[in-house]
Amino acid sequence: MDAPASTPRLPTLLSVVVPLYNEQAIVAPLCERLLAQLSRLGCPYEIVAVDDGSRDGTRRLLTEQAKAHPVFRVICLSRNFGLQAAVAAGLAHAKGDVIVLMDGDLQDPPELIPQLLEEWQKGAEVVFTTKKSRAETGLRRLAMDAFHAIFQRMGDIPLPLGAGNFSLIDQRALAVINALPEHNRYLPGIRSWVGFKQAEVAFARDARAAGEPRMSLRRLTKLALDGIFGFSYLPLRAATVVGFAACLLGLLLILWVLVERFITQTAILGWPSVVIAVCLLGGAQLVSLGILGEYIGRIYDEVRGRPNFVVSEVLRFDEPQQGGR
Ligand code: UDP
Ligand code: MG
Repeated sequence: MDAPASTPRLPTLLSVVVPLYNEQAIVAPLCERLLAQLSRLGCPYEIVAVDDGSRDGTRRLLTEQAKAHPVFRVICLSRNFGLQAAVAAGLAHAKGDVIVLMDGDLQDPPELIPQLLEEWQKGAEVVFTTKKSRAETGLRRLAMDAFHAIFQRMGDIPLPLGAGNFSLIDQRALAVINALPEHNRYLPGIRSWVGFKQAEVAFARDARAAGEPRMSLRRLTKLALDGIFGFSYLPLRAATVVGFAACLLGLLLILWVLVERFITQTAILGWPSVVIAVCLLGGAQLVSLGILGEYIGRIYDEVRGRPNFVVSEVLRFDEPQQGGR
């Protein structure tokens, strides 16, 4: 509205992508805060809300919002596919030349969108956010911090500490991300991998506006493993190193046994040494097999080529309804 003297460039269409799963308590405040921010930007915008198979009133409330505000598009998935699949669905349906991806629980404040846009206006094509502080506590926080620290050291790509989904992505980077056929996605990793000119905005992450986290610890663990196995060969290399170390230990043990048998002629107490060797080697082999299994399972997912998500319907009320994928 209030255009400054030297008008900065604005998106032709800004898409905000929000995945939601059982967030009925948050739909209204989320939409209110989002619309308040977007209407101030001075450019056309759309909100692509993905209903990830919610079982509460989320879908009904989103439909009501869409009826009241034609800028809404509601992508309904046929069941709960999980956060990363919902994100992929939203990104695939966004029509904007600039998109903003954010969680639907108001942990990512819509008030930060103008700042993300500013970085884009300065030339960044990917603007990611990092958490200056987290609202999470206890085991969840410990697990999140540990994952980020491990990923930063292990990943083959640079990932700034604490980078999450909340980000702005320009159309060139978005086209590449949408074209990736990859399953078991870890978006912060993919977004960093894609390259282009990247910028960082740090913010203090709020607590959830209502309810419990929808990502259970089991799902968070799966996501963390997707991140690590998707962007690092280090676990495989570690298995090789452990294998070599076990071989070396075995050789030393053989030498020791031979010395005792033929030189010092002392009696060999066989049982403990055998048990130790079997346990050590058996453990190392099983861990290595497990690591291989993680990679093979992911290869299997890729080979099967199932889509990451299935859309049951797309709701919009400004023009005739469109079909799914
Ligand atoms: N979410 C989703 N599908 C799921 C789980 C979560 O779309 O299967 C959405 C959820 O509604 C929220 C966002 O993803 O908008 C982040 O979820 P959550 O707050 O549980 O994750 P956390 O903030 O703990 O990482
Ligand atoms: Mg959350």
